Amino acid sequence: MELSTLELLPGKEASVKRGHPWVFSGALRSKPTHSGWARLLDHNGRFQALGIAETGSIAFKMASFDEVTPEAHLEHAVTRALKMRQELGLWDSPHTQMHRLVFAEGDALPGLVVDRYGDHLVVQLHSMAWYALREALTEILVRQTGIPNVYFKTRESLHQPDLEEGYVSGQGRAEVFLEHGIRFKVDWETGQKTGFFLDQRESRALVGQRCAGARVLNIFSYTGGFSMYALAGGATEVWSIDSSKKALVLADENAALNGFADRHRSVAEDAFAFLGHLPEGFDRIVLDPPAFAKNRHSTHNATQAYRRINRMAIEGIEPGGELFTFSCSQHIDRPLFESIVRSAAIDARRRVVVLGHHTQPPDHPFDVQHPEGEYLKGLWVRVL
Ligand code: SAH
Repeated sequence: MELSTLELLPGKEASVKRGHPWVFSGALRSKPTHSGWARLLDHNGRFQALGIAETGSIAFKMASFDEVTPEAHLEHAVTRALKMRQELGLWDSPHTQMHRLVFAEGDALPGLVVDRYGDHLVVQLHSMAWYALREALTEILVRQTGIPNVYFKTRESLHQPDLEEGYVSGQGRAEVFLEHGIRFKVDWETGQKTGFFLDQRESRALVGQRCAGARVLNIFSYTGGFSMYALAGGATEVWSIDSSKKALVLADENAALNGFADRHRSVAEDAFAFLGHLPEGFDRIVLDPPAFAKNRHSTHNATQAYRRINRMAIEGIEPGGELFTFSCSQHIDRPLFESIVRSAAIDARRRVVVLGHHTQPPDHPFDVQHPEGEYLKGLWVRVL
């Protein structure tokens, strides 16, 4: 593979040496003209890092400090990622068959996400550099994991409708997988992201433990992840709200698969509209919206939107009720998220106490030098 070369301006090596995986275009002598694998040099021409060049403001994403080929780095990084999931007890777990095998910068593979569903791997690419390397990537994944079926999801994340998408190895279709012993049908071909939001696994387990005898509202439910845990945990009634009818069809199927259909109800409606006429009597509310802030420029509007839905949920919940509220926007950091919930409590004129802080599970690691990698923030609060 042909590597391009990028050169840092004098004095710009410090952040690279500290290990932050991103280099902004202003730190480079000239901007990359296309997305692809590159070698980063200092202004004296000395090798600094191997990584991926991009045309945006984040112009280089570091993969390795070693002067190796992209294929050699990939081989090594996949070995490490797999070992970590094995040691976390996820790889051979009898009750959880889906988890994240590769999480981008957290596994030193920027732009690459690989999720494992039983004997399927679903690969999501966020850089054309990976698209160029997809044959080697498939070969390494199949050989190292022993999993024969590899599905590439490329069009949505790379914003290019004409790219190849589908099985590059093996085959398959929507199937049922366990998470903490609960059954979920996952459809990576037509579903959002890789088919399931694996990052909420541990928070879903917490919600399951807090719902015995409760009436539960799951807003932004997708295919009913939190809802099934609440039902398994003994909720008397659970409502799943989502604007996607397709997601709710699966939520109903999941309820039936687990024998919960008689206690589950789904409502296809915009979350803001639904909260505007929130029925009384909910003891538990889960709020897990999509990333409202897609970039730094939309942070202000996103903040207002998070504040509004949190205010409406806090206003409407029964006294002594518990709210599980999340933000997965990378641009809303934890202090900002907590200040949003604080403002929402003031707006709602209710006392709110924090019972717990939540984040992404360990199969979504982030480098300490890359705090941006901790994108999922959650608060478990009780509304007095
Ligand atoms: N909690 C889910 C994941 C939520 S993802 C789980 O555990 O699996 C966010 C969801 O919000 C998606 O299903 C999307 O369809 C839905 N959504 C996005 N905008 C919405 C809106 N304005 N109103 C209702 N749902 C919305």
